[in-house]
Amino acid sequence: MTRSESLFQEAVKQIPGGVNSPVRAFGSVGMTPRFIASAKGAYLTDVDGNRYLDYIGSWGPMILGHAREEVLEKVEEACRKGLSFGAATEAEVDMAQLICSMVPSVEMVRMVNSGTEAVMSAVRAARGYTGRDKIIKFEGCYHGHSDAMLVKAGSGVMTAGVPDSSGVPEGCTQDTLLAVYNDTEGVEKLFDAFGAEIAAVIIEPVGANMGVVLPEDGFLQRLRELCTENGSVLIFDEVITGFRLAQAGAQEYFGVQADLTTYGKIIGGGMPVGAYGGKREIMEVVAPVGSVYQAGTLSGNPVAMAAGIAQLSYLKEHPEVYAMLEEKGEQLYGGMRSMCRDLGLAYTVNAAGSLGCMFFTPGPVADYTGAKRSDTKAFGGYFRHMLEHGIYIAPSQFEAMFLSLAHTEEDICRTLDIMHRYFEKTKEKY
Ligand SMILES: *Cc1c(COP(=O)(O)O)cnc(C)c1O
Repeated sequence: MTRSESLFQEAVKQIPGGVNSPVRAFGSVGMTPRFIASAKGAYLTDVDGNRYLDYIGSWGPMILGHAREEVLEKVEEACRKGLSFGAATEAEVDMAQLICSMVPSVEMVRMVNSGTEAVMSAVRAARGYTGRDKIIKFEGCYHGHSDAMLVKAGSGVMTAGVPDSSGVPEGCTQDTLLAVYNDTEGVEKLFDAFGAEIAAVIIEPVGANMGVVLPEDGFLQRLRELCTENGSVLIFDEVITGFRLAQAGAQEYFGVQADLTTYGKIIGGGMPVGAYGGKREIMEVVAPVGSVYQAGTLSGNPVAMAAGIAQLSYLKEHPEVYAMLEEKGEQLYGGMRSMCRDLGLAYTVNAAGSLGCMFFTPGPVADYTGAKRSDTKAFGGYFRHMLEHGIYIAPSQFEAMFLSLAHTEEDICRTLDIMHRYFEKTKEKY
């Protein structure tokens, strides 16, 4: 038995499913997880000494690569000054200034501890600001695990949300209206029916939690118009796309401004951090200025701020990183597309910059229903092959691949090669 296997045996005794977040359990690919001991650059090392080229990057945060010196130094420095004060610090001012300087639509920002918290708080602020209750969310978009957001199945437009998770009272999701990603008409219908009651539309401007699904031309623009016309708040959940697609995230990439934006993952440089921010007028409803209560004992924690500031400053000072990430994305995802063409595989590769994913279905994949057509069993075989050959991708069809600055041309070439060998061998079966 490997050390990972024996650790997992121990883990399941005291931790539900042996993990502290479900997707880590490798359940959807019928395996048990590798326990990671350390990471550097684009590589992970597990407790058995196996090395993996990592395409998860902690689910997004490690955009500069793991254990980046610039970040570690700042964190070490901050640690020695004390881990938490529960009081205002200079680093929080630096962080707020940094975020506002990088994202034009963010005039004020509040730090929290996770993406879940950021979304929950932004929705509350939008409701407080508008005095309305209803929100529109899209099937297949993940916005953390707060009650009102745990709706994605259901029968599409005009249907009030039914919770996906047990333990969520229906009362918590009754004001969550569901729409279909890229279905402009569906959203228009919801506004026709409920316009004056809609506090906010929340969306991942690139869907990155149902695999990768891109907004079609004009879709985000139309959401912007509908929100403006109806006095609703447009919330971009940029927990994954923020500071990744461009300095100002998807808003810059697609040229559409949000009223509120939520952040997580990248913004903490690997520490548990989230944030929400946007128009001054909206953010001023938040306590202690306004009447929307939101608080956090460890929010703005000095060590977390040090990591986040180090990472974001690097991105700000090196604007060329975005062209580099785009190029790496083109090499990997373009390479995957060519491979599918060459081998006659009827699969779909969706990508935006450094984010991408291969769906095991002919596609096109433009929404949750399309994504769910994927052959997840075929994905499982592919996943196991990749892992056995030292390539660590997300153990689910419905997750993105994340490239970092640390992935070299050679790393990507090797990845494509390993993929190619697998599909060449198995293509007859499909
Ligand atoms: C991961 C994620 C969240 C939740 O963030 P946590 O830090 O895991 O709570 C919210 N929105 C999006 C788009 C995410 O990818």
